[in-house]
Amino acid sequence: MIEKVAIIGSGVMGSSLAQAFAVAGYTVSLNDVGEQSLVKAKQMLLDNLTLHVEQEDINEDQKQHALANITYTVNLEMAVQDADFIVEAIPEVIELKWALFQQLNGVIKPEAIVASNTSTFPISRLIEKAPFAERMIIAHFFNPAHLVPLVEIVRHQQTKDEVVENTLELMYRIGKEPIVLKKDVTGFIANRLQTALMREAFYLLNEGVASAEDIDTAITAGPGFRWAFTGPLEIADFGGLDTWQRVFDNVAPELAESKEAPIIIRERVKQNKLGTKSGEGIYAYKEGDVSQKLSERDRQFIQLGKVKRENQSRKKD
Ligand code: NAD
Repeated sequence: MIEKVAIIGSGVMGSSLAQAFAVAGYTVSLNDVGEQSLVKAKQMLLDNLTLHVEQEDINEDQKQHALANITYTVNLEMAVQDADFIVEAIPEVIELKWALFQQLNGVIKPEAIVASNTSTFPISRLIEKAPFAERMIIAHFFNPAHLVPLVEIVRHQQTKDEVVENTLELMYRIGKEPIVLKKDVTGFIANRLQTALMREAFYLLNEGVASAEDIDTAITAGPGFRWAFTGPLEIADFGGLDTWQRVFDNVAPELAESKEAPIIIRERVKQNKLGTKSGEGIYAYKEGDVSQKLSERDRQFIQLGKVKRENQSRKKD
């Protein structure tokens, strides 16, 4: 039975993952090579949980319990030695991930599950230098991981069935909606779908078809509104496959086909306009804008999460 969870890497994803497990009652050990990253994570967790209390998603007691469930350490061995489930959320550099797997070997419990939160590496690549392939799995969460329900699970043929079953059960226990891929494909499912859409969004922006704000509204007020509850394949059924056949035949020949990152992204990256982290990307952000926008985003996601959970419990009744 899974009781203790260790999260390796306390950056954007790791801190948010620690929150997801701690709120669900798991004992969490959060590890990072950088002390400063742990300090930042601790503050972020406190701010996030306070927002959940303000939004009446959890109460003050639950917040305090969640905070008490988490310990922070730069000592990897201490973090993982008694963990039943370990999630690595270190940078997307294969050599770093392989080096971590070597460090974990012999230190972790023989039955511990090791999950990678990689966004891009196939599991076959990860296990090349993982001495515990039969206990390795990919559990790909989405940012912010404490709010977005999807977790994409990818197994290898060497991954034991019980590892997949226990991982799925754990994901349900922390309130996630996991899916298991039948094939190990680059980008898994959600990022492939998202990248296809973003390729077209940047193409439309580059062609001057509409402003950035209007292209974003075309999704948030249009298809994005539907997508929280109806997926693209179901939408095709609702619209009529005969209609969608015509849509594809008329629109598909006109769509962007580029095999590399959009020109607008390349240019901005060269100018160090990286988005919110540098103060300018597609949009420009004034001092204080970013934290306000992020907390507004989280507030809306908390509300959407509540609606989705209510919807699911109605379906179960
Ligand atoms: P990040 O750069 O924000 O955080 C990584 C953290 O890992 C840093 O704090 C760093 O100090 C720490 N670290 C580096 N090497 C370490 C080691 N050997 N041991 C312990 N800590 C170490 O990165 P992130 O955005 O949180 O991404 C982490 C992983 O999650 C990557 O594989 C990424 O592809 C994946 N991912 C990211 C997102 C996203 O939107 N950011 C979404 C899904 C998956």
